[in-house]
Amino acid sequence: MSVGVLPGVGLESLDAYRAKVALQQPTWPDAGALAAATDELAAAAPLVVPAAADRARERLAAAARGEAFLLQGGDCAESFAEAGALRIRNKVRTILQMAVVLTYGASMPVVKMGRMAGQYAKPRSSDSETRDGVTLPAYRGDMVNAHAFTPESRIPDPARLVQAYRISGATVNVVQALAEGGFADLRRVHEWNQGFMRNPAYARYESTAAEIDRAIRFMAACGADFEALQTVEFFVAHEALLLDYERALSRIDPRTGAAYDTSAHFLWIGERTRQLDGAHVEFLSRVANPIGVKLGPTTQPEDAIALLDRLNPAGVPGRLTFVARMGAGKVRDALPPLVDAVRADGRPVVWVTDPMHGNTITSESGYKTRRFADVLDEVSGFFEVHRSLGTVPGGLHVELTGDDVTEVLGGSEEIDDAGLARRYETLVDPRLNHQQSLELAFRVVEMLRR
Ligand code: PEP
Ligand code: MN
Repeated sequence: MSVGVLPGVGLESLDAYRAKVALQQPTWPDAGALAAATDELAAAAPLVVPAAADRARERLAAAARGEAFLLQGGDCAESFAEAGALRIRNKVRTILQMAVVLTYGASMPVVKMGRMAGQYAKPRSSDSETRDGVTLPAYRGDMVNAHAFTPESRIPDPARLVQAYRISGATVNVVQALAEGGFADLRRVHEWNQGFMRNPAYARYESTAAEIDRAIRFMAACGADFEALQTVEFFVAHEALLLDYERALSRIDPRTGAAYDTSAHFLWIGERTRQLDGAHVEFLSRVANPIGVKLGPTTQPEDAIALLDRLNPAGVPGRLTFVARMGAGKVRDALPPLVDAVRADGRPVVWVTDPMHGNTITSESGYKTRRFADVLDEVSGFFEVHRSLGTVPGGLHVELTGDDVTEVLGGSEEIDDAGLARRYETLVDPRLNHQQSLELAFRVVEMLRR
């Protein structure tokens, strides 16, 4: 492996990022409390082990070759209050249900990955928020401050780093138990999908659902080992935004001497913090996990290649994922030059579409929302671009929840502007609800067939 710090170099070499500009960091009010929190994290057990991060990298290498498809999904911002078993279960269930549909549609293994167990820090477009003439510091995620609009709750508190770690540990534990304990049994996930199809709103997907049903009966008739299909591999991922947290959870892999960020299997750099000479790129260039970078519509081909040079100079398969979030109106123009440049370069990259972040609007009633139709259109554009260039569409990155919220407009159950108020719960960006997520999976199957 030629990514990460060299064997024997030690964790200190990760500190090179400290000499660079780190955008979107909180101003912690108390250096002593910060040091106490990061010392505690530095001595704590890892949330994931390096060998599991290596497995994620191998799966991603397959996605880059067109032999697997990546599904990344979860909240825009997780919250401490909603880290209970039921919410986790609903999210995992939604991802598993989508994965069965996509596995059938793509005829490929689906790599399942939650935006979970660490998605607690958010970049914000403004440092402050004003409501009714009152201005307070912006909410930066539960890892930093609290969402309630009061002066006390918006003060960054380093103790939240430790709380995020503990809650993430409990989340990983539940996620792995669900993935390994029969909850993920193919027959059971299939039954859930049949339950979804009982709603007449989804009649359009009946033939695909019937085909999946026939495929599963065929497998059974052939004597497929369903016992072996009771467990799945499930990875966790989040935006590596708060470098105090990521650095404190980094460890040397005793097998090889390489450094890993053990806060998650996969980490990504956001659109706002991907400066080539910035602290985030510097930090993640030195850990051996598979990593991603979000690419917005202003990205130039030379930016993509420079990121490749910084983050995967040796072209290690599965090491680097580019998550394009262009917007439905831009993806068909903005994405081809980037894909083309990377193809010409030759080093492998997993191309993933995030059809959420380029399609955020404010509804007439004042909610931050997205149109389901725009989400579909961007995914469709992503597939069209890859089809026309002969390159590999490697995956899908979505903000979703397993619950019945009303945050994204449209879908066959037609959430309209007035309907958003019914159950709008997100702390930051609007998420597809359970039904919209499944519907997206069925639509992707239709796109794969075009
Ligand atoms: C996000 O994934 O929630 C996010 C902030 O995305 P981006 O960096 O693409 O804006
Ligand atoms: Mn978001």
